[in-house]
Amino acid sequence: MAIKVVKFGGSSLADAAHFRQVAEIVKADPSRRYVVPSAPGKRFSDDTKVTDMLYTLYELVRARASMEVIDAHYENIKARYNSIITELGINLDLSGEYEYIKNAVLHSSGRDFAASRGEYLNGMILAKYLGFDFIDAENVIYFKDNGTFDEEKTNDMLSIELKDHKYAVIPGFYGISPNGTVVTFSRGGSDITGSIVARAAEADLYENWTDVSGFMMADPRIIKNPSIIDTITYRELRELSYMGATVLHEDAIFPVRYAGIPINIKNTNRPEDRGTMIVSQASGYDTEHVITGIAGKKGFSVITVEKDMMNSEIGFGRKVLESLEDFGVSFEHLPSGIDTMSVVVQNAQIEGNEDRIIQAITRRTKPDSVTLESGLALVAVVGRGMVKARGTAARVFNAVSNAGVNIKMIDQGSCELNIIVGVDERDFETTLKAIYNEFVK
Ligand code: ASP
Repeated sequence: MAIKVVKFGGSSLADAAHFRQVAEIVKADPSRRYVVPSAPGKRFSDDTKVTDMLYTLYELVRARASMEVIDAHYENIKARYNSIITELGINLDLSGEYEYIKNAVLHSSGRDFAASRGEYLNGMILAKYLGFDFIDAENVIYFKDNGTFDEEKTNDMLSIELKDHKYAVIPGFYGISPNGTVVTFSRGGSDITGSIVARAAEADLYENWTDVSGFMMADPRIIKNPSIIDTITYRELRELSYMGATVLHEDAIFPVRYAGIPINIKNTNRPEDRGTMIVSQASGYDTEHVITGIAGKKGFSVITVEKDMMNSEIGFGRKVLESLEDFGVSFEHLPSGIDTMSVVVQNAQIEGNEDRIIQAITRRTKPDSVTLESGLALVAVVGRGMVKARGTAARVFNAVSNAGVNIKMIDQGSCELNIIVGVDERDFETTLKAIYNEFVK
């Protein structure tokens, strides 16, 4: 029988009604054997996620707030879980767990421990409700001394453990370090746990259930009702996520990608929607629109270095990049001309060191001029279909210029998976809309 690993995000488990939907989804397909839950998320737009409430609990303890204040806050956290348990009518008493967690947080068990209890408690409730085994992530997900994830140890131990459980719930977001402290991934990290479990289970599919029907072609805050991407490759997804598109935690891609397991982004509120399939090989999946998606970010600067006969000077590029390296700056793009070289960097990387970086470049390269221009936005047009379709670049540039926007930089990788244009930050939204309308509408 096929094996599916299913991860449910916080909004999919925010209250009892959502738990019911989740159970229906899990039970509808017996191959959905391993379930990875997040902590309860927001029930309405200005609600607070349980994970954030737990971080606040930790801060209150650290700031030595009165026991009264701490207790009142903790009651609100318990109430979130208790209302789910009562409404679902499950026979589960978490009072011992609550007491243990409170004492541990009061006695410096750490910030990560506090946050991780969101998933831990939710996992216990979900396991009970589904009638599945509960596998505590701290017995199967390992971190190294330096805080990074221990991939191989985890895969070895977890795959052995899973063999003993036909159906199980494994809470997302946390694991254990060699000295026995609980460690979490970065925010949104339950996606990573899901991916790790899928790899260890040698799953056929990793379903990631959330509150949208897949990965959108563009940011819905800028493009109204953007189309959903039907199928996207891991590489395309990396490009789009890097440029700011989010649905899935970036690090969630790696464990399943190498194992060749596809990810299906699905909507808990509309399970019948196909969602987006994320696959390693694009063959057989033609894109509908030539491009797969568009994403972008503001907040970039360009450093431009000019020097006569630069193109024949060996080591020029190295000297420029070394000057950036001295200040711990990594670069994004390197568009160059015959006697000019530009380096695109994130503003945040150079902030406060602008003058010193320019001086360092000047000292090393003795240029005719060095200039720094900030206020650049980058827009990436990504699509595996671009290799086959002639004239895609021309369509992008025409669309942008017809919208009255001046393109300041162009970068196209030779793999023809993306075209990146740099525009003034003020033109960011207009650029995205122009490109989207050119290819989709
Ligand atoms: N609950 C954690 C967070 O809010 C992890 C997750 O939901 O994936 O970031």
